[in-house]
Amino acid sequence: MGTIATPVREIIPAARLEHVRYAIRDVAVLAEEVARQGHKILPLNIGDPLQFDFATPPALIEAVAKAMRDGFGGYAPSMGVPEALDAIRGEAHRKGIRNVQSVFVTQGVSEAVDLCFAALVNPGENILTPCPEYPLYWAVLAKLGAELNAYALDESAGWEPDLDDIARRITPRTRALVVINPNNPTGNIYSRRTLEALADLARRHNLVVFADEIYDKLTFEGEHVSLASLAPDLPVITFGGLSKAYLAPGWRVGWAIASGDRAALAPYVDGIGKLLRSRLSANHPEQYAIRPALEGPQDHLPEVLTKLRRRRDLTVHFANSTPRLSCVAPQGAFYAFPRLDIPDGDEEFVRGLLREKHVLLVHGSGFGQAPGTRHFRIVFLPDEETLKQAYAAIADYLREHYA
Ligand code: PLP
Repeated sequence: MGTIATPVREIIPAARLEHVRYAIRDVAVLAEEVARQGHKILPLNIGDPLQFDFATPPALIEAVAKAMRDGFGGYAPSMGVPEALDAIRGEAHRKGIRNVQSVFVTQGVSEAVDLCFAALVNPGENILTPCPEYPLYWAVLAKLGAELNAYALDESAGWEPDLDDIARRITPRTRALVVINPNNPTGNIYSRRTLEALADLARRHNLVVFADEIYDKLTFEGEHVSLASLAPDLPVITFGGLSKAYLAPGWRVGWAIASGDRAALAPYVDGIGKLLRSRLSANHPEQYAIRPALEGPQDHLPEVLTKLRRRRDLTVHFANSTPRLSCVAPQGAFYAFPRLDIPDGDEEFVRGLLREKHVLLVHGSGFGQAPGTRHFRIVFLPDEETLKQAYAAIADYLREHYA
């Protein structure tokens, strides 16, 4: 006692956080405020199917419950449990990926991206990421002190990657290329020709390709081709997981498949192994759902796709028949990225819409967009009634403010 209390001072976070943003969850803070005022929010902002009329397949729940009952609650092997790794190798084979050098399980694709980037880039180096993009990539790069190098997806070409823009952006400090296919936020699926051209660019410039294919089974039309299947020699890390097509996002189970020339990949795969060991393991009992997910019946998928296709059609019809909106039809995943023709910024639009109409979207600038353009992202997971209500409210808001 008797000591004079030294006042505690403000704790300043690290400067590297300055550029860490995650718009999808950032707008949710304002939504909570609006909800506290007693308004019911129509949530079209977050890609979590379990918030809507989708449920995790019971066989997966049973596999995890059994693993827990059987005592698999200790740490798992750092790479993942053997039966899950076997199932992921089988999945790689079905996706046409040959020359697999390593597979490993992570806490979602999110952790896989974090580890794979940390094992590759030095401060000041850069990784090519799409614009618009899924903001996880920018957040991880910012955290690592790596440079952002965003290449354009071309809206006028149905959101295809702009190959000339990619080629122009490659410097001696460019280490990798991220390809999200099917894409978040545009819903686009890339053609075989586009993927071959991307692989060719990566090969010529000695880039690792990160192929984020977490939505590979959620496709409405067109064929989904795995980039790694077209380039067996090229170092490609393909990401997948249980969050989307297997409806278990909260389990935090994802994986990565490293394929390509063995000698070229070996040092990098060793480096990733060090990071996997230093974080001990991914969630253990949940990994026992990987084999039943990938090898068991896929009979939940037709129903999921039927619902999503109808919701996609409703969304595209709304966005292309409402003044001041236009939209490239998504071919996969559960997102649309309509263009907004208004004089105000899109964040202002999204915040105004939330306050007045209680519809929650994410502004296009949270994903990146071509200068001078404005967009917002719709998650079309809610049921048709909710979507219709939300779309009527958006149309009203546009009429009231921008007639
Ligand atoms: N990659 C993309 C393109 C996503 O859209 C998402 C989630 O929305 C993730 C990765 C995150 O996946 P996970 O839940 O496996 O971490």
